[in-house]
Amino acid sequence: MMDCKKATRLASESQERKLKTGEKLELKLHLAICSGCRNFAHQVGILRGLARDYARGEEKAPPQDQPQDAGKSSPEE
Ligand SMILES: [Zn+2]
Repeated sequence: MMDCKKATRLASESQERKLKTGEKLELKLHLAICSGCRNFAHQVGILRGLARDYARGEEKAPPQDQPQDAGKSSPEE
């Protein structure tokens, strides 16, 4: 059985490289029984995602809904 040291190392490495099927399986098995490493894996995943978003830049302004001038009623006579 994989120990926590190896599991956390694999979890980090999985961000850098593609894990081999065997490694993935071992890691998965370990994460299934070890909440500590599960948290760790979760965290590195999240941190990775955050860093990626940050690097991508957040300069995009959020879309703003400008209310169109739709209050004009056409005269119907
Ligand atoms: Zn563990």
